[in-house]
Amino acid sequence: SVMADEIVFNKKERFDKDAAASIVKELRGTFCSGKTKSYEWRVAQIKGILRMLVDRERDIIEALYKDLSKPETEAFVAEISMATSSCSHALKDLKHWMKPEKAHTSFTTYPSSAEIVSEPFGVVLVVAPWNFPFLLAIDPVIGAIASGNSVVLKPSEIAPATSSFFRKYLEEYVDSSAIRVVEGAIDETTALLEQKWDKIFYTGNGKVGRIIMAAAAKHLTPVVLELGGKSPVVVDSNINLMVAARRIVSGKWGSNNGQTCVSPDYIITTKSFAPTLIDALKQALEEFFGKDLLQSKDISRIVNSKHYARLSNYLDEDKVSSKIIHGGQRDEKQLKIAPTFLLDVPEDSQIMNEEIFGPLLPIVTVDKVEDGFDIINSRSKPLAAYLFTNDKKLQEEFVRTISAGGMLINDTILHLTNPSLPFGGVGESGIGSYHGKFSFDAFSHKKAVLYRSFAGDSSARYPPYSPKKLRLL
Ligand code: NAD
Repeated sequence: SVMADEIVFNKKERFDKDAAASIVKELRGTFCSGKTKSYEWRVAQIKGILRMLVDRERDIIEALYKDLSKPETEAFVAEISMATSSCSHALKDLKHWMKPEKAHTSFTTYPSSAEIVSEPFGVVLVVAPWNFPFLLAIDPVIGAIASGNSVVLKPSEIAPATSSFFRKYLEEYVDSSAIRVVEGAIDETTALLEQKWDKIFYTGNGKVGRIIMAAAAKHLTPVVLELGGKSPVVVDSNINLMVAARRIVSGKWGSNNGQTCVSPDYIITTKSFAPTLIDALKQALEEFFGKDLLQSKDISRIVNSKHYARLSNYLDEDKVSSKIIHGGQRDEKQLKIAPTFLLDVPEDSQIMNEEIFGPLLPIVTVDKVEDGFDIINSRSKPLAAYLFTNDKKLQEEFVRTISAGGMLINDTILHLTNPSLPFGGVGESGIGSYHGKFSFDAFSHKKAVLYRSFAGDSSARYPPYSPKKLRLL
């Protein structure tokens, strides 16, 4: 059996504050040499990553299997090919992104021309999570490189196989005088966070997000925080039932077993429609994963025993265990919990107040669908909000009244695969966004540049002031 806890992060050498300082110093030297700013350098690094994705595809799939028993199809579709498409997209559009953007000129500076120049911040830090340990590490790195920065990647120690993959291979394919991997857990990350960075890009939970932001504040370093939260799914009765059911089941269990930042966290539907929806969800589950849900090879396991215990504790609360209507089986040895539905769990239970990040799906029933909107708005702003309905009016009201990092109508998760949409949270779900051009923007300072000539120098702006000059201005 694959026990996550058997594969622990392996401390190879001491990595302390001084070690962190010396890496930053070296990368800053590289950045100051100017070489990371050239278009050619950026392209060469991204092409290097593309080569790694091809050459090392098997190693990546194996690492993801070790870390999460992630099914190969999911590893390929949700991690490798997403990274490939980020690279291709950047290579196709980088020249265009790098071009200074013409801005309007204003009467106050006539005659003049104006432009917005994207410049790299300098030396940036990317701190990655364990759930999509490959994609969520490499994707921000691609953005940082596209924008011309030096970058240190700190993969998650909770996905040790993927972390050591990066340590072993990334620097082989890119310029290691500008792009580095530092493995480690809290101590190493803390040592890194004591350094002065020009930008920090963190993906993970809000508790650590606060630690990152506090460390960044000491140096006035800007941050992107890609956090999580409880992403709701509102289901109306005016839907294509089986399509909706499949898309919910696929977004929850078919995507890393609910261990996804935009995973459906809980469903809101009407009392009268709930039985129909539940039957359809069960049917979709069986279609996808067979009758023995606990043994399906197409579902990732729970990442480690700590998270297994956390999820078990949700179910063990008395007022929760009595609400299980489907699933609930567990296998501690294999770190597996079957897809589980819960109906109308009390609001003050833990499971209704923390991000579930696992295979449990509470269903909340209301009198009318719009009541669900109030429930969502009474909570922290989620990273994603989903609505299933054919009703255009309801769709409009959902978009207008609910604040969320992003929204997807009549599907789950896939909004983050469109590189023309910014991906990021709001409020408790995060700060800033990335993907596509937004990744380039996340790692670029937008420098305002105004060009004037010596022509047209009016004395009206200069002292000595007079009423006549004032009229001229
Ligand atoms: P995690 O435990 O791997 O933590 C993320 C990173 O923080 C790791 O690199 C870890 O080493 C570092 N870290 C942990 N404790 C630290 C500390 N005390 N000081 C400094 N660094 C520390 O991953 P996680 O937080 O469990 O990830 C799950 C969370 O991430 C969920 O809330 C999920 O919603 C969110 N998430 C968000 C996105 C997004 O794109 N918005 C994507 C994936 C996950």
